[in-house]
Amino acid sequence: MKAPEEPLQAEITDIADETYDTKTFTVSYSDAKAQKKFSFVPGQFMMVSIFGYGEIPISISSSPYKTESMRFTVVNVGNVTNAMHRLRKGDKIGLRGPYGNGFPLQKFRKKNIVFVTGGCGLAPLRSAIYAVQAKQSEFGKKFILFGCRTPANILFPDDQKKWAEEGFAVLSTVDRCDANWKGNTGVVTCLFDKAELPVENTVVLVCGPASMMKFSLIELRKKGFKNTQLYASLERVMQCGMGFCAHCNIGNKYTCVHGPVFSAKDLGEMPVEEE
Ligand SMILES: Cc1cc2nc3c(=O)[nH]c(=O)nc-3n(C[C@H](O)[C@H](O)[C@H](O)COP(=O)(O)OP(=O)(O)OC[C@H]3O[C@@H](n4cnc5c(N)ncnc54)[C@H](O)[C@@H]3O)c2cc1C
Repeated sequence: MKAPEEPLQAEITDIADETYDTKTFTVSYSDAKAQKKFSFVPGQFMMVSIFGYGEIPISISSSPYKTESMRFTVVNVGNVTNAMHRLRKGDKIGLRGPYGNGFPLQKFRKKNIVFVTGGCGLAPLRSAIYAVQAKQSEFGKKFILFGCRTPANILFPDDQKKWAEEGFAVLSTVDRCDANWKGNTGVVTCLFDKAELPVENTVVLVCGPASMMKFSLIELRKKGFKNTQLYASLERVMQCGMGFCAHCNIGNKYTCVHGPVFSAKDLGEMPVEEE
């Protein structure tokens, strides 16, 4: 187990509005040497301190091949995220990490790869999608299935367009549509048939709200996927990020250290929790 770390100071260099409740912050360490040394695995997260408010886990949503800065895509849900949304370009934050295991993308080489995302779940998966995009010839067929509540919650529309242009099959759906919506309506699992997912030699990476992940895994198993083909990135309330505090444990596993990415095989061996 690593010793506890102190947060390093970092500066916000850009802020982009993604939706009415979601912003992406571009951040670099104030110490250029620390930024130069920085690297991460897609799916890993940082502990982000907003001074005077608290510290929260946030996934890195930028490319693992562009580490001159890092991006965090943050939904405003409560005390700390609300304070973060009030920050401006040039403001300072604290960073510890990167923590967690990330997606084992090396293991997925030569396989078809399917990203199933719900709402802000596309943020943690975006770094993995960028990694696959950068090395497309190493993978088979590529699918991105994105579901969100309404058209106003659609995340990264420019990226989604680019991924489609570059050979990913990108399908999206909304739970509730408005008069202008011409796309699919329904939860993300309704895209599984439409996408005609190949089961053989395929891995599926799922990230989103707990119920979306639960029903996605159930439906994927019905389609013939085995637990060893399915991976989910979990969000648990956590404090230390390093396996000390036990806030994020499920049975004998710590989400912060053994996860946040688990195969469905691992999940099947963990105790079932009440939602
Ligand atoms: C590994 C990991 C990666 C994450 N990545 C992202 C990300 O990329 N973008 C993003 O917007 N959010 C992400 N989250 C969730 C984010 O950490 C919480 O939204 C944040 O901690 C809420 O803090 P708050 O003070 O604003 O809200 P609070 O006022 O503490 O709570 C508001 C609501 O959020 C819930 N909540 C609080 N802490 C967490 C938590 N750690 N995880 C899940 N729910 C929580 C509370 O139960 C409550 O319902 C991630 C969480 C984990 C564990």
